Amino acid sequence: MAQFTMLDGATTIGGTKLLFEASTSPNTTRLLFDFGLSYTTMGAYFEEFLTPRTSAGLTDYLTTGLLPKLRFYRSDLTALLQEMQPELARQLADPGHIDACFITHAHVDHTGSISFLDEIIPLYATPVTAAILSAVEESQFSAGPENSVTDFILRPNLGSNKHGQRTLHELTAPVTFPDCRVTAYPVDHSIPGACAYLIEYDGGTVVYTGDLRFHGRMGHVTRETITALAGLHPDTVIIEGTNLRPDHQEEPMEPAFRRRCAFWSEQEVEQKALEEATKATGLILADFGMKDLDRLMTFQRVARATGRNLGIVPRDAFIVQRAQQAGYPTIDLNDPSVVLYVKRGGSGMYDKGDIKQDWARSPLLRFAGTDPDSLDAQGRRDAVEDVLNGSCPRIVRAAEVSAHQSAYLLSLGYWDIQELCDLRPGPGSLYIHSSAEAFNEEMHWSQERLARWLNLAGMDSIHIHASGHAPQEDLFRIVEELASTHVYPIHTEHPERYVEQFGSLATLLANGQIAQLHN
Ligand SMILES: [Zn+2]
Ligand SMILES: [Zn+2]
Repeated sequence: MAQFTMLDGATTIGGTKLLFEASTSPNTTRLLFDFGLSYTTMGAYFEEFLTPRTSAGLTDYLTTGLLPKLRFYRSDLTALLQEMQPELARQLADPGHIDACFITHAHVDHTGSISFLDEIIPLYATPVTAAILSAVEESQFSAGPENSVTDFILRPNLGSNKHGQRTLHELTAPVTFPDCRVTAYPVDHSIPGACAYLIEYDGGTVVYTGDLRFHGRMGHVTRETITALAGLHPDTVIIEGTNLRPDHQEEPMEPAFRRRCAFWSEQEVEQKALEEATKATGLILADFGMKDLDRLMTFQRVARATGRNLGIVPRDAFIVQRAQQAGYPTIDLNDPSVVLYVKRGGSGMYDKGDIKQDWARSPLLRFAGTDPDSLDAQGRRDAVEDVLNGSCPRIVRAAEVSAHQSAYLLSLGYWDIQELCDLRPGPGSLYIHSSAEAFNEEMHWSQERLARWLNLAGMDSIHIHASGHAPQEDLFRIVEELASTHVYPIHTEHPERYVEQFGSLATLLANGQIAQLHN
């Protein structure tokens, strides 16, 4: 008899952490599926300047429930906990040996707590997810204890910056363990590389959907996966429910944008964005998730159709390139109409001394026409010197964009909004917000702040978006097609919708609860 424990994320959107055990024997195979950060718990106890103390290791995370009280964390953090908080350390239950952690996709609500896991637990992800995770890790500006997937700084850090490592395997075939077998099935989501998992154990099968939809650019992939899985007649499905809503939805929060258009296909997003971009006579800014490379492609098509250059920042170019190397079809960085938008560095100038990390030099050199891989690190450092002086047509600064506003569509968002001071958008400029609407107070405050900036700049704004998640009718259709006898909703604030639709087939679980999977 197999079982799984809903460690976290039962009735919240994200924070997903599942523990699967192939039997109840002590030596059984134990697998984790996702180990995300719960934004709900984080927001309940912390905010921007009130964060879990890095110096306290696991303490704040365990105390507030951001991490489950189990004994499977990094050896350095476990030792620190035993010294700092012996009582709390004693409360951690031993789940037994964990054989692996499988990741569905590279969103933080599924991966943001991996940094704490015992370094001996191997990670598995699709090649594209692995590429995005390592590109994001390599290009992040602060290596806090919570955002290191494969490489982490050992604590306590007494100034020596000693590193620990964790292995991340790329899934290219099913992984077989003594008591079960795990196979990844690709799905479409608002990030490349997402997958669902099929777990086959002695006497049964489970499907965990991860986050998915049919209406994105890669929707056909989800369709093929559901058809293939339905043919295997899985006994149990653990399914997301992000877009489930109660019948009587409370009024949405007052929107920060002048016009709002929500669609259920990427084609409609493209069509509407094109219609708006055609009317805009000034600068266009498009704001969407940095890792949503399908949306990036949408805006590249809009830019091309309206005769504009698409401007992206170096970090986006770095992630695009890594995903492309891992086999994901995304925008062509060699297209001359794709340009790199560079911001002023810490010096206040555009100076090579401001570019301190090696990863940031590669996109600069690539856009300047030099192959960064043909140089060593020192060579890249020297070669960057001349590319920031405004002489490379594919590397643009605020002054160039400001002087030729109708020639650009910049992929720039809330976190770069101060650039408006330098860009000085003229009449006919447009801000396209193209990611999820505010669904909590903090996001709402951010959008109000954004609205004030747009007001200052005199910029028109519009919200054009299609959700990264399937709507209710598609989710219900998945359950019908898979025809499983047990349905466990997760990643939703309204799991009861599944019970209303499927009656006793659906079981609601609370965090920490165990579901027995019968043979
Ligand atoms: Zn999620
Ligand atoms: Zn997601």
